[in-house]
Amino acid sequence: MTTPFWIAGKQASGDSTAVVRSPYDDTEAGRYAIPSTSDIEAAVAAAHAVRREAAALPAYVRAGALDHVSRVLAERADEFAALITAESGKPLTWARAEAARASSTFRWAAEEARRFTGELQRLDTDPGSTGRLALVRRVPRGPVLGITPFNFPLNLVAHKVAPALAVGAPIVLKPAPATPLTALALGEVLAETGLPEGMWSVLPVGNDQAAALVSDPRLPVVSFTGSVPVGWEIRDSVPRKHVTLELGGNAAVLVCPDWTDLDHAAERIATFATYQAGQSCVSVQRVYAHADVAAELTERLVGKVRALGTGDPASPGTDVGPLINAAAAERVQTWVADAVAAGARCHVGGQRDGATVAPTVLTGVPEDARVMADEVFGPVVAVNSVDSVEEGFRRINDSRFGLQAGVFTHDLSTAFAASAELEVGGVVIGDVPSFRADQMPYGGVKDSGVGREGPAAAMADLTEERVTVLTGV
Ligand code: NAD
Repeated sequence: MTTPFWIAGKQASGDSTAVVRSPYDDTEAGRYAIPSTSDIEAAVAAAHAVRREAAALPAYVRAGALDHVSRVLAERADEFAALITAESGKPLTWARAEAARASSTFRWAAEEARRFTGELQRLDTDPGSTGRLALVRRVPRGPVLGITPFNFPLNLVAHKVAPALAVGAPIVLKPAPATPLTALALGEVLAETGLPEGMWSVLPVGNDQAAALVSDPRLPVVSFTGSVPVGWEIRDSVPRKHVTLELGGNAAVLVCPDWTDLDHAAERIATFATYQAGQSCVSVQRVYAHADVAAELTERLVGKVRALGTGDPASPGTDVGPLINAAAAERVQTWVADAVAAGARCHVGGQRDGATVAPTVLTGVPEDARVMADEVFGPVVAVNSVDSVEEGFRRINDSRFGLQAGVFTHDLSTAFAASAELEVGGVVIGDVPSFRADQMPYGGVKDSGVGREGPAAAMADLTEERVTVLTGV
């Protein structure tokens, strides 16, 4: 069966198809229809045409539609999880977690849609504006182009679609070429909402057509999640557009000398350095462990990583599945070999079988090795020892990225210092940097991006203030 795409809320079949293959065993995960140039034009024209009607939709209609999607995603979670696993190679346990998170992302957007509003500002603070009030409303900036990566085929799509619909902005979604099937299946659920024609489209197009969408003036907002070079190139190409970038990183965690439960820290690091085969933008990549705890932490971490099960992502016992393709796995393996050649010690892992990289722990890694300085996006973690908490902060900050950081400490002053000094979008005290609750503001600084997601933050970002001055009040 060929999965259709969606133009202005309606199924369409184009005139050609493409196949999505499982990164694990190359079996066919599905086949989908590819939009033609005229299909793409129809979607953009519809989004542009419906923009005023969309902005005027009552909150109960927007919230009701989002609640419906949330409910259906919860009911059909197993089906969505199976599809995520089939096309991305994500282990089923994590795919189920993603489906649950996507349901909650839509639910949060529904709740925010009910209370999202502007403010009333008094203007009589100066004699010249006595008798005036400002009604400050938030209005959509306009139709949104949402572009998503392969690693969360459902929840990152939810983070684009839900806030846009919540504020009444039409959205044209372009999912990742490796994992379009889940986004196309979400279209079935969106179609049940009865939102006006043109409010949403899902176009599984290639990068060239995506670049053309980026420059289309009828889509004044671009919300991009993906890799660092592509993101900044997009922003540079359309300086007059409102562009939000959620990009990559080399997330770090600091284990402070006061943290006594090293087994727990090792467990969390082992899990979140390797979950989704390390293909998360806040996967634990760099660990700075205080010299007092580094040896014990490393020993426990190596033991836990050794115990992880790799293999078929559809089997319940699999912790670590394949990367998105064999080329990505080959790159990761090369970076590990380069680090070892530069003096690092590999305690476990380093091998590759097709697209699967064995979970890997390195120590004594030069800070300029690619496994430290670049985004690995593989199940590889490097542990380096530091002599003080301050040195740990310095090394965490000595990166061109800044998404999230984790600090294992019970010490309140260390926690506040981390919150003040770490140059990242989020600091997680007492856990790994990979923690994300979908309602919280989420995003990066430096090369890692600009703007914040999470339904409330994204809704603020997708709208701008419009002032109405009331005179004689
Ligand atoms: P990618 O940059 O290769 O692709 C992302 C999307 O951009 C895809 O849909 C792709 O087709 C599209 N694209 C590529 N070239 C384009 C162009 N010229 N114009 C318009 N669109 C274009 O990224 P990926 O490999 O799919 O995803 C992995 C990256 O995403 C990693 O760097 C990861 O850290 C990042 N990521 C960031 C977050 C976050 O929230 N910060 C979340 C998940 C993933």
